[in-house]
Amino acid sequence: MKTISLIDELKSEIKLLKAQGKSIGFVPSMGYLHEGHLSLVRASIKKTDCTVVSIFVNPTQFSPNEDFKKYPRDIMRDTEILKKEGVHYLFTPQTSLMYPHGYKTFVEVRDFEMKLCGRSRPNHFKGVCTVVLKLLNIVDPDISFFGQKDAQQAIILKKMGQDLNLDVKIEVFPIVRDKDGLALSSRNTYLNAQQRISALSLSRSLREAQRMIERGERNPEKIILRMKEIITSTPFTRIDYIEVVDIETLDPLPVINEKALIALAVFIDKIRLIDNTIICIKE
Ligand code: AMP
Repeated sequence: MKTISLIDELKSEIKLLKAQGKSIGFVPSMGYLHEGHLSLVRASIKKTDCTVVSIFVNPTQFSPNEDFKKYPRDIMRDTEILKKEGVHYLFTPQTSLMYPHGYKTFVEVRDFEMKLCGRSRPNHFKGVCTVVLKLLNIVDPDISFFGQKDAQQAIILKKMGQDLNLDVKIEVFPIVRDKDGLALSSRNTYLNAQQRISALSLSRSLREAQRMIERGERNPEKIILRMKEIITSTPFTRIDYIEVVDIETLDPLPVINEKALIALAVFIDKIRLIDNTIICIKE
């Protein structure tokens, strides 16, 4: 595996690979890798000739009051993990290279970015879209791999790809969970033992929602109420949102018909965690 931190150097390597007819797979990440990231890496290795992983903690997607500074980082450990997986290139650009002095350009996917997580993280998706578009322009992949864990992010990036006529194929892979149901996240390292137990209420509430729907419940209000009960009866929790929305528009559904995204964000003390599930009703 070759580690590259210069944009022009990576671009030249990619050009050479493309001239040899090689397909490029790309997994953007903020590092502190776990099995969720690695599921995307493995998919990329399986589906393309050459896999590029980027590790870049993107400052423009964090608000000033968020955890940019203390976001977990361990580039040595991540490098070893990616080598073992058989990744071809690790891209680790410096912030000053991605956003040099005088940087001015940002990408917005209007409306979508004000829904769900966007309400409490107003500039988050603008930062995500901007950095992902920059990375896609640098890596020029055939396929880029994203996780369902960040459901809104995946939907917004697909919309950006469509609206801006990007050639890249955006593929989304299922949420990887710990054995106890907790969705893997680099931020789980912030949780102490008691908080981690409380964090299990997120996936527990989603499983209960699924059960209610299997038993015939179609009213989002009733499902959300039950999920709230489960989460608020657990210590340290504060709900940011729980919503049942259309999987394409992210608009709240008055009734669940065929498909729905149930998404939530919950603070465990000061640690904000997200989780979701997609409901498909086969009648
Ligand atoms: P991050 O490093 O948090 O920016 O995540 C990089 C990519 O990994 C994103 O596409 C995430 O959606 C994906 N990802 C993060 N956690 C998980 C998980 N538990 N299961 C599947 N994909 C994940």
